[in-house]
Amino acid sequence: MQTIYNNMSFLKEIQRRRTFGIISHPDAGKTTLTEKLLLFGGAIQEAGAVKNNKIKKGATSDFMEIERQRGISVSTSVLAFNYQDKKINILDTPGHKDFAEDTFRTLTAVDSVIVVIDVAKGVEEQTEKLVSVCRMRKIPIIVFINKMDREGKDAFDLMDEVEQKLGLTVTPLSFPIGMGYDFQGIYNLWEQNINLFSGDNRKNIEETIAFSDVQNPELEKIIGQKPADTLREELELIDEVYPKFDRQDYLDGKLQPVFFGSALNNFGVRELLDCFVAIAPSPRPKESETRLVDPTEEKMSGFVFKIHANMDPKHRDRLAFIKIVSGTFERNKPYYHVRLKKNLKFSSPNAFFAEKKEIVDISYPGDIVGLHDTGNFKIGDTLTEGEIMSFKGIPSFSPEHFRYINNADPLKAKQLDKGVDQLMDEGVAQLFTLEMNNRKIIGTVGALQYEVIQYRLEHEYGAKCTYENFPVHKACWVKPNDPKNEEFKEFKRIKQKFLAKDKYGQLVFLADSDFTIQMTQNKYPSVKLFFTSEFE
Ligand code: GDP
Repeated sequence: MQTIYNNMSFLKEIQRRRTFGIISHPDAGKTTLTEKLLLFGGAIQEAGAVKNNKIKKGATSDFMEIERQRGISVSTSVLAFNYQDKKINILDTPGHKDFAEDTFRTLTAVDSVIVVIDVAKGVEEQTEKLVSVCRMRKIPIIVFINKMDREGKDAFDLMDEVEQKLGLTVTPLSFPIGMGYDFQGIYNLWEQNINLFSGDNRKNIEETIAFSDVQNPELEKIIGQKPADTLREELELIDEVYPKFDRQDYLDGKLQPVFFGSALNNFGVRELLDCFVAIAPSPRPKESETRLVDPTEEKMSGFVFKIHANMDPKHRDRLAFIKIVSGTFERNKPYYHVRLKKNLKFSSPNAFFAEKKEIVDISYPGDIVGLHDTGNFKIGDTLTEGEIMSFKGIPSFSPEHFRYINNADPLKAKQLDKGVDQLMDEGVAQLFTLEMNNRKIIGTVGALQYEVIQYRLEHEYGAKCTYENFPVHKACWVKPNDPKNEEFKEFKRIKQKFLAKDKYGQLVFLADSDFTIQMTQNKYPSVKLFFTSEFE
């Protein structure tokens, strides 16, 4: 049993932290909502302060776009602010599908998520993927249906869609009064009040009227006879059809509360935030390969979920983002780097606040610390106070695109190797080395990454590369029931042209179609194939 640090202020610091991510399909309103949350926290003073990390189409040259992206992704990696007595850490999750891998990794560092859905578009592809990862990890989810100022889908239909497409069990904690042109406001089931737009332009300021009993005839006077009748019917239906909100079910990932609003008009956002700070979990225990680690343990532990290269090519140092799981992280104190088996000290750990980062002396569970790194860290690395353990849960997923990478400048072979190695550590893409001839294959989620890699190799490492297509459909991680049996030996012989090692030396089968995967699995049933690198 690990020592629980019985220091009240330490426990309080943990209790007041809320570390979460906002996920959505691009354009649903993630940036706008983030900005409004920061405004409530007083962390920024004006709209437009949070930069959108979207890939602009055709606006700039690709290279410029890559650099712009990288700049923004540093400044928005963690946005922290205080609200009421809570310290809130928002972790940025790129919505663009080419950066999905980045988002999956970030989801290993959040304690809960808010999913933003566009009322007109409903559940979109990227949302489905991200939510399925959250469900796998039983991350508590709140759903925010955005853009209620526009005509969209019927609220009940939309909740059905959310349940069916995302596999969630929802219960509304707020409900719209009208929609689009007729949108008057929101009935807040959580706080039992009505929030109305004031004025005709339906912008900004809201009026909040406590209203615990919708049967009260005053309702007609406030919103009109017809909308009042409709609202009563709808609330009755909600009462009959949807489960009662239960915090434990939400925390266990069994029930997902839904809020309606308009981020742009700052409507329904305060309700969301107030409920969020009340119900969202403080830092949760995390599974390591050996045991479950509780945030209240005295000894520090944490893991790297993101690495960001310096924007200035002259300085090769990088920023490794660590999520603190337990204990306190202190400046200048030595910590044990489990994979490298050595102690490291950090003289200038960065903490993040709104869009700034600054050096801090102490950080608590739930916090993200940025550590300057000269090449010691890989994504997934664990730091402890000496205990040999590694946190679970940063798997690689099969990439979607695969290409050979060739050296285009024979004099710069070393630079190329180093560059490729470091970019892979950052998680820009995945490297596979063919068993047969040691040729290198780069696998990515989106085609854009090949440009990023080529550009960065040239500008940061002085190396040049070209690509060559390699027709692979999926990378499957291979696990034989018995590495010594004849079946596995035959599998390796027959498939040798398609076998590679990933960066960690795990065996991977590069299959050219789903059909091949199926056939291979039928022919060699004792050799199991997995689509992610973490299958135990
Ligand atoms: P992201 O890609 O998810 O970060 O989306 P953004 O926050 O950049 O929003 C995409 C577009 O939708 C922008 O033009 C926003 O101004 C707009 N938008 C965001 N929230 C609302 C809303 O509540 N109502 C309306 N009408 N537009 C919104």
